[in-house]
Amino acid sequence: MRNFFLKSFCLIIGLAILSSCSQAQQKSTAKTDTKSQTQKTENTMSEDKFIIKDKTLDNTKIDENNKVVKSEEEWKKQLTPEQFQILRKKGTEYAFTGKFYKHKDKGLYVCAGCGNELFTSEQKYDSGCGWPSFYDGIAAGKIKTTLDTTHGMTRTEITCARCDGHLGHVFEDGPNPTGLRYCVNSISIDFKKKEENK
Ligand SMILES: [Zn+2]
Repeated sequence: MRNFFLKSFCLIIGLAILSSCSQAQQKSTAKTDTKSQTQKTENTMSEDKFIIKDKTLDNTKIDENNKVVKSEEEWKKQLTPEQFQILRKKGTEYAFTGKFYKHKDKGLYVCAGCGNELFTSEQKYDSGCGWPSFYDGIAAGKIKTTLDTTHGMTRTEITCARCDGHLGHVFEDGPNPTGLRYCVNSISIDFKKKEENK
């Protein structure tokens, strides 16, 4: 009988220790979760503060199923060395040198990497900055924005949402109706002329 009491006593103590342990563990997990969530929110918020917004720059509308994904070698084969340097390595062409800087034909500007339609000639304007400039993109989900803090500046980088090719940057000194200036490398884009009688 005494033995029985002793066993039961040990069992109760054991259970008590176990349950307090698991409670403590749960508490610490919950604490970590809250902490990582807070950090996540802070990061997004600080990035949001700098990213320039526009209807065509809605990163939530990007169609992830329509992506063009290629290896560096494949891009090298497909693109000219200049296109590779700018589209894939985020380079910048010299100001006032690009083939589309003073281009005024009517039509569509598409990504030189994947053909994704990005801008129309109606959205192009002469900003005087030395690169083709547009006050808007063709549609939401076509152009992706990312915070770019390289070269000691805080800028909003624009990339083709389909192939992630670097296009240029977007600034808040453009004309109405958006007040934006999409500053794009000529080398990052191709032009499709509007056919007559269409
Ligand atoms: Zn593209």
